[in-house]
Amino acid sequence: MLNFTVGPVQSSDYVREIGSEQVPYFRTDEFSEIMLENERLVKKLAKAPKNSRAVFITGSGTASMEATIINTLTKEDKAIVINGGSFGKRFVELCKIHEIPYSEIAIEFGKCLTEDMLMPYDNKGYTTLIVNVHETSTGVHYDIDMISEFCKRNNLFLIVDAISSFLADPFDMDKLNASVMITGSQKALACPPGISIIVLSAEAVERIENNDPKCMYLNLKSALKDQERGQTPFTPAVGILRQINIRLKEIEENGGVESEIERIQKLAMDFREKIKNLPFEFVSESPSNAVTSLHPLNVSAYDIFLELKNNYNIWICPNGGDLKDKVFRVGHIGALRIEDNDVLITALKDMEKRGLL
Ligand SMILES: *Cc1c(COP(=O)(O)O)cnc(C)c1O
Repeated sequence: MLNFTVGPVQSSDYVREIGSEQVPYFRTDEFSEIMLENERLVKKLAKAPKNSRAVFITGSGTASMEATIINTLTKEDKAIVINGGSFGKRFVELCKIHEIPYSEIAIEFGKCLTEDMLMPYDNKGYTTLIVNVHETSTGVHYDIDMISEFCKRNNLFLIVDAISSFLADPFDMDKLNASVMITGSQKALACPPGISIIVLSAEAVERIENNDPKCMYLNLKSALKDQERGQTPFTPAVGILRQINIRLKEIEENGGVESEIERIQKLAMDFREKIKNLPFEFVSESPSNAVTSLHPLNVSAYDIFLELKNNYNIWICPNGGDLKDKVFRVGHIGALRIEDNDVLITALKDMEKRGLL
């Protein structure tokens, strides 16, 4: 199968090779070294500020979203949550469950966040802003510079879910003055699902030290303490952490985060150019390099997904809920090449010839 979903995505041969090895015992200096290197490299790729830290949570991206809300916020906070799709909605639900006071900025499907939408919240006593910089359900990549300016002006603690955007779109945690950045193993990191990563500024670490969350597994105080020596409080997904290590070094050796972003951007631009003559409409106002959201003009989006899966050995990414028949997405993250785009375009052209588009 050729995989154009937004996660899990295709892994490189080297990453897959590590996955086939026996999983080693992990309370060792050797594994600690891998974990310390993982922290160092992730912080470098995120352009994390001085004195920041990173922790590795065994659990998918949502585990780190929840850990961030529980550990860095309290009932004394007042949050602005940007809700432009199913991942924004997830933060709204997390604030509700954990009783963090919040206001929600709901954005129409596929639309950007504008300065006008933020203005009513200017200078109104908010303490934090929570955003999925790439709302993967719609493919919209928000203007993070504009958000960052707003947060600086209002002295807001900025929590950024960059799970599907990290390594695909430019992100400079230090310059943006972001307090938390979250990512996951199965998106552009192109490893199996199971690990999520939280990069924490010094301010975020301080908030965690002063907080007393009612949870054990997702307690970041203990995660931070153990990660000081390259360990975790509980048995982590050891195999995936070893694969992440290989992948991070692979990115470094290939020219670092800029080269990786450029590689993904090239794939996205190539695909968007080649898809132009087919009966689709682009859905997202300001697309992330990670994914292209498309609306088929004549047929059901879900039927296209099924046909490509069943008869062409290709996975694209279907949408859920109300959008199941209206929108599908094509991911550009993972071990994909320009030739793979051509295979997908050829398949779509063949479907058009067969009257299926
Ligand atoms: C994939 C993703 C997540 C995490 O989803 P999991 O299924 O828990 O890994 C969170 N936010 C965004 C924006 C994502 O793309």
